[in-house]
Amino acid sequence: MDKTLAIIKPDATKKRIIGKIIERIEAEGFTIARMKLVHLTKDEAKGFYIVHKEKGFYDSLTEFMSSGPVVIMVLEAENAVRLWRDAMGATDPALAKPGTIRHAHGFSIERNATHGSDARETAEWEIDYFFKK
Ligand code: GDP
Repeated sequence: MDKTLAIIKPDATKKRIIGKIIERIEAEGFTIARMKLVHLTKDEAKGFYIVHKEKGFYDSLTEFMSSGPVVIMVLEAENAVRLWRDAMGATDPALAKPGTIRHAHGFSIERNATHGSDARETAEWEIDYFFKK
């Protein structure tokens, strides 16, 4: 079965919508294979978003991602990466389609409620990053 990594970001945990987002994940037909609630350190957030290290928003993004608890999950389904990205919607909530999680719950292009891997290879790397034994 295909896998993807999902994160409920600090803006969403602070708004107490973990349950709403997990309800959506289950309604989409995903199996939640792994799940943990953690408060990332800034260094852990920087390591996770290392591909963005040259971007102007890297410091702000990693500060935000380490500002409160996050829920990190491995989701399983056919075409898991595509299915989860479609459910989340566009990165910028202002551009996300009605019915998507980011449209409903995102606050800004940075504080956009959820993360999802963008490709199968990325998903493998991201799952290892948080769940390697
Ligand atoms: P995603 O795959 O849809 O999450 O988008 P990206 O991989 O492009 O960016 C990763 C994360 O960085 C996004 O989910 C946002 O939280 C944040 N981000 C992306 N673009 C911007 C931006 O222009 N400004 C800021 N402040 N954050 C951004």
